[in-house]
Amino acid sequence: MAKYPKWHRVDPDNFDLSSIDTGTKLGADGKKINRNDAEAIYQKNIEAIKTLQFKMWAEKKTSLLVVFQAMDTGGKDGAIRKCFGPLNPQGVETQAFKVPTAEEASHDFLWRVQKHSPAKGMIQIFNRSHYEDVLVVRVHNYKPESVWRKNYTHINNYEELLSDSNTVILKFMLNISLDEQKERLQERLDDATRHWKFSSSDLKERKFWPQYMEAFEEALIQTSKKHAPWYVIPADRKWYRNYAITTIVRETLESIEMEWPKAEEGLADIKIDS
Ligand code: AMP
Ligand code: MG
Repeated sequence: MAKYPKWHRVDPDNFDLSSIDTGTKLGADGKKINRNDAEAIYQKNIEAIKTLQFKMWAEKKTSLLVVFQAMDTGGKDGAIRKCFGPLNPQGVETQAFKVPTAEEASHDFLWRVQKHSPAKGMIQIFNRSHYEDVLVVRVHNYKPESVWRKNYTHINNYEELLSDSNTVILKFMLNISLDEQKERLQERLDDATRHWKFSSSDLKERKFWPQYMEAFEEALIQTSKKHAPWYVIPADRKWYRNYAITTIVRETLESIEMEWPKAEEGLADIKIDS
């Protein structure tokens, strides 16, 4: 249904997360890109995505699910704001997934997620997602391996069902370095207006960086599929992150066959005269 661009896409047969440069400046054509040029392309991408979103929304045949995962301070909130904020809000829904509530925890792990599967014509954004059940749950042994390991299969089956129901799926891992996280955490501490964003649990999680990288690597290998690919976005530079995400969203939407809904006959001949 969608033709997914190759740039930054995870190849499950050949993937090594640690070899990826989180601060790269290499653009879609393989040449270095500077901030000004990247920002100009980002602006054009946004305009193109707006038009494509309008058509998707009018047609009500296809939907788009965009999954964001990252380490703390990885830029999920900023990426969602910058890449989807300018769109028609009637066609976009965003859902964040936090520590499961008692009610959520009393169901299977996909229960809270499936309620937010996108309706036709909509763009649905997940700020964290069902992937937490193979990331934080694995790193902290919240559930035994015999349980979380099966979740790869459950996730793949769920995403295949979505794809068979005309949902195009894009999954973005915003990839920052350990050093970049240190700077961003310090910035949150140094700015009183951003203290609300800081959680002392972020410092605890930071100590588990290698375990998280291992969990991410296996999750991306197990679940990057033709119909639901993962993209690892170098995210130390926010302008590069926004340029890369909007380029991939634009190219994916452009590859979907969309048509304006059939109008009544003879509209062009009608003149409103009073
Ligand atoms: P934040 O995104 O900063 O608001 O933090 C949300 C927190 O919820 C993160 O620490 C996530 O790891 C945690 N979280 C999300 N989903 C789950 C889950 N299924 N099990 C345990 N913790 C989760
Ligand atoms: Mg947080």
